[in-house]
Amino acid sequence: MSVDLAAKIRDVPDFPKPGIVFKDIMPLLADAEALRDAIDRIAEWAEPRKPDLVLGAEARGYITGGALACRLGCGFVAARKPGKLPWRTVAAKYALEYGFDSLEVHADAIVAGQKVLIHDDVLATGGTAKATVELVEQLRGEVVGLPFIIELEFLNGRERLEGYDVYSLIKY
Ligand code: AMP
Repeated sequence: MSVDLAAKIRDVPDFPKPGIVFKDIMPLLADAEALRDAIDRIAEWAEPRKPDLVLGAEARGYITGGALACRLGCGFVAARKPGKLPWRTVAAKYALEYGFDSLEVHADAIVAGQKVLIHDDVLATGGTAKATVELVEQLRGEVVGLPFIIELEFLNGRERLEGYDVYSLIKY
């Protein structure tokens, strides 16, 4: 029987700004059974897509992204905020549910033709995910899927990712 993952998500109203209900995955991460179940279920969806790499977005995408990469036998690529990566980078700008930012990956992190799975904890407006798609495609990688733990359906993130294979474990 699978674990009730939604019961392990904490709603934090008005964080980081008034009006935002933050979906906190820390209780899920802290529960060994829930963490294992979440990774197993995403891996089951991802396996047939045969990714070479998992790309995780800063910061929570690193936690489950690293576990997912290890479970799938893939390498891991970090998409970071500007100025954080030490080597030569490529960048893409994006809009957040609560602000603007940009993300970078190392220019040699993805080799042309590699199959990349893009992963994050939450799909909200899709701006972050779209930026990571752009990063992968700038380096001529192939995006083979975008699995998330949580999808905030009312923000229509999927519309920005039309044509891509999007999956989520918990929908609100
Ligand atoms: P977006 O670019 O709008 O799809 O936002 C997704 C990114 O922002 C992810 O990295 C999430 O971790 C974070 N995020 C956006 N909205 C929320 C929310 N309501 N709760 C938790 N994280 C969020």
